[in-house]
Amino acid sequence: MKEFDYIIIGGGCAGLSLAYELDINKKLEKKTLAIIEIREKYKRDKTWSFWKVFNHNFEDCVIKSWNSFTINSRYGSHEMKNKKYPYQTIDSGLFYKKVINRLKKNQNIQFLKDIDHLNTKNSFVFNSITSNQVYDTGLWQHFKGIEIETPKNIFDDEIFNLMDFDCDQRNNVHFFYTLPFTKNKALVETTWLSKMNDETLNDYDLQLENYIKETLKIKNYTIKYEEEGAIPLFYPIKKIEQNKLNIGSAGCMTRLSTGYTFLNIQEHSKYISENIEMIKKAKIYHIGKKYEFLDKIFLNVLKRHPDKMPKIFFDMFKGSSEAVIKFLSNKSNFFEDSKVIFKMPKILFIKNIF
Ligand SMILES: Cc1cc2nc3c(=O)[nH]c(=O)nc-3n(C[C@H](O)[C@H](O)[C@H](O)COP(=O)(O)OP(=O)(O)OC[C@H]3O[C@@H](n4cnc5c(N)ncnc54)[C@H](O)[C@@H]3O)c2cc1C
Repeated sequence: MKEFDYIIIGGGCAGLSLAYELDINKKLEKKTLAIIEIREKYKRDKTWSFWKVFNHNFEDCVIKSWNSFTINSRYGSHEMKNKKYPYQTIDSGLFYKKVINRLKKNQNIQFLKDIDHLNTKNSFVFNSITSNQVYDTGLWQHFKGIEIETPKNIFDDEIFNLMDFDCDQRNNVHFFYTLPFTKNKALVETTWLSKMNDETLNDYDLQLENYIKETLKIKNYTIKYEEEGAIPLFYPIKKIEQNKLNIGSAGCMTRLSTGYTFLNIQEHSKYISENIEMIKKAKIYHIGKKYEFLDKIFLNVLKRHPDKMPKIFFDMFKGSSEAVIKFLSNKSNFFEDSKVIFKMPKILFIKNIF
């Protein structure tokens, strides 16, 4: 039976980011790594976006960066600018290609389909797959996005729309998200924050078609790419196992109030690589107690008062762009937290602590 020093289960965003970080930092010159991945072929399947609050390895996979964005709701629209922390979008197709091309050159790395034929007794395992999630209890962020191309230049590609709540809410929380990559190409996404047991919300194609025609006023377009997904807004059960560390979504790297995960994965991959020689003592990833506490209250309000959320999100973005960006990217200090919390309806939040 074959043996490897390290095994990564799941060669997706977290698994590949970690393998890449280990490889570029020459941590695999004398060590062997198996990446267990079930997919037959890699192709673009996700579009990862985030505020770039620190440097990462995938600048060359960025489709587009913006310094301005808008928030729309029935209360109006406002624009935010921030040059220091651009919002970036990564094409997962470019990411997979870049990482796999590099890893294939290292003879100490092997891609395998399953773990069954390996002797794992002496290996350290990084696991990025979750066992079956509980579908009907927790809240999820579920969505469908389509990249559309128009014959004429109609988008302003200097500014993107982070959230447009001026749409049908159906007693849940619903918004559209538009990322104009060029003047005639944009990703338009319909996003719901809800439980997963209401299938009436899943008419994504119709929602997108109506929004593009009626709100964006685009009659003529072709669909170039589609993505659909659901991000759990609750953590998988944490299990501490010897010689095993969970990474990615399975490792609780998702910020529950936003679904943002990509940069947290990058940060922890760097940490693991820096500490690989003493990996058995490495820290489990934590978003931070402060964010866990505030997100819990935020999600309680969202669950109990979905009708109030468009106004809450709208008001949150009314203050300093730097404070809100750093807060949502889990990099805020006490003063920045206070600025964001000050915009929230305090009595409602206090009532929903438990
Ligand atoms: C469509 C979509 C869009 C997203 N957009 C954003 C975004 O804009 N910004 C952001 O920060 N986050 C975003 N996220 C959240 C998060 O960043 C991604 O889900 C990210 O891919 C998580 O990385 P991961 O490695 O944990 O999971 P994945 O990237 O899903 O990797 C898991 C891998 O495990 C493989 N696998 C599954 N089962 C097995 C098995 N039994 N054996 C072996 N391999 C297996 C899968 O094929 C996959 O390659 C998005 C999520 C989705 C679904």
